[in-house]
Amino acid sequence: MKAGFESAAREALGDSQLRRNMARATTTIRARRAAAVAEVEDWEELREAGAAIKAAVMASLPRQLERLERAVEERGGRVHWARDGAEANAIVTDLARAHGAGEVLKVKSITTDEIELNQALAAAGIRAHETDFAELVNQLAGDWSSHILVPAIHRNRSEIRLLFEDTIAAGRRLDEDPVALAAAARGHLRELFLRVPFAVSGANFAVAETGSVAVVESEGNGRMCTTLPEVLVTVMGIEKVLPEWRDLEVFLQLLPRSATGERMNPYTSIWSGVHAGDGPREFHLVLLDNGRTDVLADELGRAALHCIRCSACLNVCPVYSRVGGHAYGSVYPGPIGAVLTPQLRGLPQAPTLPWASSLCGACLEACPVKIDIPTMLVHLRGRVRREVGAPRGERAALAAAFRVLSDRGRYERAQRLRRLGRGALAQLLAAPWSRSRELPEPPPQTFREWWDERG
Ligand code: SF4
Repeated sequence: MKAGFESAAREALGDSQLRRNMARATTTIRARRAAAVAEVEDWEELREAGAAIKAAVMASLPRQLERLERAVEERGGRVHWARDGAEANAIVTDLARAHGAGEVLKVKSITTDEIELNQALAAAGIRAHETDFAELVNQLAGDWSSHILVPAIHRNRSEIRLLFEDTIAAGRRLDEDPVALAAAARGHLRELFLRVPFAVSGANFAVAETGSVAVVESEGNGRMCTTLPEVLVTVMGIEKVLPEWRDLEVFLQLLPRSATGERMNPYTSIWSGVHAGDGPREFHLVLLDNGRTDVLADELGRAALHCIRCSACLNVCPVYSRVGGHAYGSVYPGPIGAVLTPQLRGLPQAPTLPWASSLCGACLEACPVKIDIPTMLVHLRGRVRREVGAPRGERAALAAAFRVLSDRGRYERAQRLRRLGRGALAQLLAAPWSRSRELPEPPPQTFREWWDERG
């Protein structure tokens, strides 16, 4: 598994079209975010408030979830608890079967991608229709998400036009203009919205105080899914709960500016239970653990659960913006994926991801809830080495370094050898390390030699 991210990233770097698509898209989003953030005078205070609320949630998570359950059920909804993806998938599948649903609508939901809900539904003979534009593109192409917010960021307009002409707009010739492509998707989706009475959504936030669930999106398709069907099932990671209604004020300012560089989200849908004559007649909230309580047990690593999925860290990351999302082998790519995926799956399942970063610190600077991803990456690297082990070559190199560095005589002999034309040997020994770094040239004289020379 050592080769996991490394080999996938090398393959991605060989795709020049992908690199162009990624560079163009991330540069545009970065510029929009920077402008939107610069408008807010108290941006730092908002970040502090967001980080503090998230830390408080993690410190009282069981209580907040019980409050949420009570509030949802008091308003006519039903709450289900799922220990893992298999349990959550079974709950949704059973609900769909109980309602005789052969098809379900999906609002963009990274949590249901995490548990591979579509595959579980398909295995039960139930067809899921993605309704988010980019998710639809991925579904039609048999592809998967490469960005938290723009899941088809690795594709350009002409690739999407060709895809649509082969699928939802078969027999038609489309323009590459985004409006024309959106119209083709809209025509396809409207028919589904009116026909399919069962929908599954994710959630950006849920408020324990009021039992309200919030979905934040840009297209309006999410609102169609959460209001038109008769039955709505929301699958939510347990970390998304917020204690009070007023907490939304902080996150609804932080999220759109960090995510799409907008002052506010075009569509923010918030619902609390069910209401006669308005919206779905039945509402189910599935609270998913799937490794989250294990993440909570790590005092440093648990801050990964503070993430509000804005994707700002992806767009500023020099690694992600070159290799794209698929190299991370998870629905959570980029810097946050590098710390969240190994913790959710267990370190032996993704031991290379904590190295999928340059530790430049850009992700920490961009994060609206101040998640210290660089520190967490170093912490997880240590855990991987302690709990999973190190490759044989690395162990041998570090043992040799320990011998040399722990004895002054050996250290000075090694310095002289390096200068006496044995540089080639050092280059050879350090080859795996120096594949992506410069091995510095030894100086003609060490500090000690210079000091001694001065008398
Ligand atoms: S870690 Fe921070 S910047 Fe990255 S997606 Fe999560 S909230 Fe956004």
